[in-house]
Amino acid sequence: MKKEWKEQQNGCYTVRTCGWSPPGDHPVGCGMKLHIKDGRLVKVEGDAEHPISQGRLCVRCLSLPEYVHHPQRITHPMKRVGERGENKWQQISWDEAWDIIVEKTNAIKKNYGAESIIVFGGTGREACLYYYPLGFASLGTPNVCYPLSGWSCYGPRCAITDYILGAGYPEIDFAGHFPDRYDNPEYKVPEYIVLWGKMPLMSNPDGFYGHSLIDMMKRGAKIISVDPRINWLSTRAAHRLQLRPGTDTALALGLLHVIINEDLYDHEFVDKWCYGFDELKERVQEYPPERVEEITWVKKEKIVEVARLIAKSKPTAIQWGLAVDENPNGVQLGHAILAISAITGNLDVPGGITLGPPATLLGKWRVETRSELSEELWEKRIGAKEWPALSMALATTHPDETLDTLETGKPYKLRMGWFNSSNFITPTNSAQPDRWYRALKSLEFNVVQDCFMTPTAVAFADIFLPLPTFAEHDGVVITHFGRNAIFVGAMNKAFEVGECKSDIEVCIELGKRLNPEAWPWNSVEEFFDDQLKPELGFDFNDLREMGIYQPGYTYRKHEKGLLRADGEPGFNTVTGKVELSSTLFEMWGEDPLPYYKEPFYSPVSTPELAKEYPLILTTGARTFTSFHSEHRQISTLREITPDPIMEIHPDTAANLGIKEGDWVYMENMFGKAKEKAHLTPTIHPKVVHAAHGWWYPEKPAAEPSLFGVWESNINTLIPHKHIGKLGFGAPFKSILCKVYKTE
Ligand code: SF4
Repeated sequence: MKKEWKEQQNGCYTVRTCGWSPPGDHPVGCGMKLHIKDGRLVKVEGDAEHPISQGRLCVRCLSLPEYVHHPQRITHPMKRVGERGENKWQQISWDEAWDIIVEKTNAIKKNYGAESIIVFGGTGREACLYYYPLGFASLGTPNVCYPLSGWSCYGPRCAITDYILGAGYPEIDFAGHFPDRYDNPEYKVPEYIVLWGKMPLMSNPDGFYGHSLIDMMKRGAKIISVDPRINWLSTRAAHRLQLRPGTDTALALGLLHVIINEDLYDHEFVDKWCYGFDELKERVQEYPPERVEEITWVKKEKIVEVARLIAKSKPTAIQWGLAVDENPNGVQLGHAILAISAITGNLDVPGGITLGPPATLLGKWRVETRSELSEELWEKRIGAKEWPALSMALATTHPDETLDTLETGKPYKLRMGWFNSSNFITPTNSAQPDRWYRALKSLEFNVVQDCFMTPTAVAFADIFLPLPTFAEHDGVVITHFGRNAIFVGAMNKAFEVGECKSDIEVCIELGKRLNPEAWPWNSVEEFFDDQLKPELGFDFNDLREMGIYQPGYTYRKHEKGLLRADGEPGFNTVTGKVELSSTLFEMWGEDPLPYYKEPFYSPVSTPELAKEYPLILTTGARTFTSFHSEHRQISTLREITPDPIMEIHPDTAANLGIKEGDWVYMENMFGKAKEKAHLTPTIHPKVVHAAHGWWYPEKPAAEPSLFGVWESNINTLIPHKHIGKLGFGAPFKSILCKVYKTE
């Protein structure tokens, strides 16, 4: 149905659009109306007609007017005038910025080869989509890097799904694909929803909306929460499995033990569509509930009860989160969780787990731009040879290997960095950011794209290019980057602030100067027309008028030959089946079956160290008021969350002489960070949780302060290259520490 996307109203106008961070979380596409008066955004309200978000918005989007018109925003290109770290800048034109960038890029490519350029991508905005083509097709380098140790966010889940199912992202079925949503006759509400290390009310991740959980709960769905913390949703859960951080894989194997040994699995699905069931059956015998209780702290009776519920309830939907990614044992966890969904018959069924194709639309295009590079250049991608599993699934460098390369100059020296909304010396997407900080100093020329001056920009930018928010440019939002396109939404430019240019505008303008054949489009609209039309049959203007496009959904695609490239029934894996025993893992020298491995540092694996550092630190839970390191300048949001909060059990705090609101240090063998204590019985007495992403825009920008970036930098406690055998998963969710008052 077509509707106006821009309307005049009493001297103002209103633009209907779909959001993409900032502020926000990845391509969620919540619907909103932006009210503009005298060229300024004066109000944001939810769009009640948007079939998914139905008028509901987070406080991050509601405070968008403060964000876009913030006095500290950088809205023109800037050139550094002092030394790096001094925070001295001169405004320049885009033409001058392009001239400097093109001259430096060409010189570096000519003298040292294109591989000496590296593009770092952040998680905010559309960087996730466009930093690949920026590197491959505009700058011409094979090195694009998501600098989080072990690629510990989303990538591991996508890779594991590729290896085991040969499919796109598995998402809980919340009827998002259907225009009539929960009323669609094919849809069924899940009886149980397992939230495994995930709190979607705050995170609204990638293609899922926290409020959909509430919708489904109102329709009868019950929650099983697997989380070391008790959160708002787990207090409303039918079952709560509060496990020891980092032991999730043992729990998943314990559940499989019960499901298989009590013969609760779906025989038909297993016989027809699974490979390696007998081997898995043998493996799970090592994980009886008694042993799993010892490892995880979850009572064996609870393990048995929950396993039976998952298997017997039809359907059950399991949603996995960062517990899989930020865990060196996470590949095995993801494998085991997919195995649970598969053998209980919950894959690609109504109310179970939906599966997308590996990638469509923009998600496919971004990776395919690597065809701009010669094979010889592609083979120089950092870490590709050392980490074949990761590099097969993800078209980036290996993040840990990249830091090693920066530090050692091997196999070659990196000379130019492009930081695409990647503020990674704050505790967001790097482990040991202090090491990155020192290593990045060796780069000779750097470009930073962002909305605000950040610690990373002050420390490293030679040229700063200003990014718009989603309200200031045209674009397309596609959930799960096309790996499970629940819908495609239009982002409509509502107004302009300064001279900001979006990621795709930068790609096109730079591309036209450096590699024009790859960038034939003369406008962003033309570009999106070309992306949409061949696959969906409509252009960008049509999408604007539709607002969002929901493609509908076909269940049980494996039965219909819709998952495999050859059109045959089955899954797009080596064996054509769900690989409960993975042929690829075996090929890469990894155990083909899931197994449990203790965290690198824990009371069990390093008992001596645990005497000095007796608490288990887990980090990274989302809040309503920030997206990683973003939003620290926004006073409404800062009023709600003024300080970084460390959660500690009242008994533990009392033993340490810590009271509510005390500033404390968390310290271990790698680093130390300061946060404010919040005493809460929702956390286990032997565990503390620390907020991530903190820096202080109100503190001095110049070095050594860099907006106070080293004060509460929790990632300094997380070690580099402590990852799984296939290259994934750093221990952000489980490391040892001690806690003490700051004075
Ligand atoms: S999830 Fe929240 S912050 Fe993100 S786009 Fe939707 S309303 Fe905005």
